[in-house]
Amino acid sequence: MKAHSSRVGVFVRIRPTAHFSQDHIECLPDGQTVNIHHRKDSRKPQDSTKNQLSSWSFRLAGILQNVSQEELYARVCRRVVLGALDGYNGTLMCFGQTGAGKTYTMTGSTESYKQRGIIPRALQEVFQEMDKRTEYTFSVHLSYLEIYNETLVDLLSSLQGSPQLSPRGMVVVEEPGRGVFIRGLSLHPVHSEEEALNLLFEGEMNRIIGSHALNRSSSRSHCIFTVHIESHSRTLSVAKYVTSKLNLVDLAGSERLGKTWSEGQMLKEAMYINKSLSFLEQAILALADRRRDHVPFRQSKLTHALKDSLGGNCNTVLVANIYGEAAQIEETLSTLRFASRMMCVRTNPAVNEHMDPAAQIKKLQKDLHMLKEELSFYNTLVNRPRIMYEPLSEAQLAEIHSQVQRYLKGSLEEISIISIRQVQAVFAQFKLAVQEQEQKVKAQLCQTFNLMEKDQSANTAAIKEWDTRDSTEDVEALRSSSTKANTKMSRDKQSQSKRQGEGSPVSRKRLESASKSKLNSVQMPEREQESQEPDTESQDSQESKPPGNEPFNPDSTPSKAEAFEDFKVGRGSKINRILKENKAVLLERCSLLRQLTEEVNAVKREIDCITATIQQHETRGGQGHYMVMEGEPVLQEPDGTSLMQLRELKAVYRQRYEVLCGVKAEVNYCQHLVDQCRVRLLSEFENWYKKSFLVPEEELDITIDRTLEQGEDNQRLLPDSPESFYNARYRMLKRRTALSFTPVQRNSSARSGQRRLPPILPGHSQGTPTSCKLRTDQP
Ligand code: ADP
Ligand code: MG
Repeated sequence: MKAHSSRVGVFVRIRPTAHFSQDHIECLPDGQTVNIHHRKDSRKPQDSTKNQLSSWSFRLAGILQNVSQEELYARVCRRVVLGALDGYNGTLMCFGQTGAGKTYTMTGSTESYKQRGIIPRALQEVFQEMDKRTEYTFSVHLSYLEIYNETLVDLLSSLQGSPQLSPRGMVVVEEPGRGVFIRGLSLHPVHSEEEALNLLFEGEMNRIIGSHALNRSSSRSHCIFTVHIESHSRTLSVAKYVTSKLNLVDLAGSERLGKTWSEGQMLKEAMYINKSLSFLEQAILALADRRRDHVPFRQSKLTHALKDSLGGNCNTVLVANIYGEAAQIEETLSTLRFASRMMCVRTNPAVNEHMDPAAQIKKLQKDLHMLKEELSFYNTLVNRPRIMYEPLSEAQLAEIHSQVQRYLKGSLEEISIISIRQVQAVFAQFKLAVQEQEQKVKAQLCQTFNLMEKDQSANTAAIKEWDTRDSTEDVEALRSSSTKANTKMSRDKQSQSKRQGEGSPVSRKRLESASKSKLNSVQMPEREQESQEPDTESQDSQESKPPGNEPFNPDSTPSKAEAFEDFKVGRGSKINRILKENKAVLLERCSLLRQLTEEVNAVKREIDCITATIQQHETRGGQGHYMVMEGEPVLQEPDGTSLMQLRELKAVYRQRYEVLCGVKAEVNYCQHLVDQCRVRLLSEFENWYKKSFLVPEEELDITIDRTLEQGEDNQRLLPDSPESFYNARYRMLKRRTALSFTPVQRNSSARSGQRRLPPILPGHSQGTPTSCKLRTDQP
């Protein structure tokens, strides 16, 4: 329920006396203002402020002088008590000096019915009101807590049914949805005013007994009598219910330390009281200050227990009890100061609404049942066959599957809609069909490229492994080239890059002979015919050692460019050959794609031309207009030849466009394979080089990428750019290869590759030499 902001209601009650000091306490006729005049009695003779008269004015919600218990209840409490029955938390507090009338106000005289206080009157009102509100069911529980020297005491624990107190005693706890409560404090259900009063008196008795046993005054403790109310509407939602707490608080006397008590137990009590009341004051100051978002409630048991009963969503009322005598004027002043601070606290009373999940489920089930009945009634009325609202059976699902299959093949014209569940099942079947189709296309593609479908782990393993069958031969080649390279080795980067441009004649020769193999189809880097050698580490260690146990001289390390040339014709010849073959296939597919794009564009131009002619004819004719029907322009005015031509052209366009899309997918896939082969070659080379020549990490620079291209690539695969760029890309490709590839990765790999196929979309094709003008909006 919406909260509305309100202030704490603060009233002052003056204890009746025959010696009321008019000079000190001046109650104004407005009934709300009290002025205090006080002559400060300084004991220091030299003090200039001696006998100086000071005045204070306090404006509160009401000044109650010579007011009966009944009137006080009506003016101060009734609103809060009735609010509690509506679901608002309420707090009524009495504050003031010992003997000023707090207990009299809160509990009243237990002997005289007329002089009974707030608590018995509130209990009476609660039960009377409950009887009146017949549309609700209420349940009421009571608890009575005493806080003495920071110890929590259950004043109703003597009653039957009270929980066994844990050795740790009671604790103040907070729980979301439940707010603040005292764990271990007994809660007693009551069904009548009499039962409730019995509990109150039992508590009062326990309070007195306790104070005697401990040799203390009952005025030295704080007492919180709480009425817990829960109400459920009999007419409205069963699941919703409201709860409220009505706290009736009799605070300990607020005498300041040093005035009355000075030693022993009294001093200890006074210190505790002073402390807890001063924390209460601090909490109230913080609550009153809107800029503060932290209120120190946990500093004392009292403030913690009253955390959600002071400000917040609570209706709060404070009665400040004062003496009328001049002798107590300083305490009176102190009490009034506290009262005026409390006036500044704002509250946002709100109803504590809750939902009972079990009742809510019950209600929803009932609603569902009713709606189903309503629906079947409606279906009978509109003469529809009996419609099921239950989940579909296996047989029904099988029927839907067959319907969808027939619909896709064309043997079924349409699938008639029966129910929401059936529509959902039809959609699910369509999704399944699409997925199956995708799998088929993928399998076909793999077949076209002579690939073996391998699972992801096999791919990853294959990438890591290497064919060891030819390792002896490769190392032989490496040794010969390395020996040769030893004589030329220089760490000068400039001369190194120079050599990279030249390349090694021997290597080039080997390369040429190696590249003479027939280029039929794109091949995966890992070939089936390669032997499976799972022990990569042992194989690596084999590779790292030069054959014949000839030790390598680290100073005679060949340049990377030379080493790479040797690697390609020796150890890396196989992957190098595959790379070149794949590139050849890629080039061939690219040129096919270009050719197809031109063809499709030519057909599109013709379509545009004929469409323009028909339009012109239409405009000239001055009658008839185009209608768009299922995406196709239809001329109302008969023009047989042109229309026929247009239709034929569109069919051709669609057919070629489909072929084009297929080739485009192939190009993407080939590009991925080329990238993958290249990364394999480079990483194998890097490993081999590192192990063979023991070159420090930082010297394994990125010249290899460039060398690779200069060695065997007629068409540059990478654009000229700084080495750091190549380096980064090389690492990126390497990282990607380390992960097994999936169909999705294939695409992404092709997309992120440096060299892209000419894009066929007009927006993307700009600036590329092979750009094609192809519209994708099919007629
Ligand atoms: P406190 O609880 O503040 O220490 P009490 O409520 O015990 O003070 O009051 C002390 C005495 O004064 C009691 O005997 C009480 O009956 C009496 N008293 C206090 N206020 C009133 C009042 N408004 N009318 C009549 N008697 C009162
Ligand atoms: Mg008292």
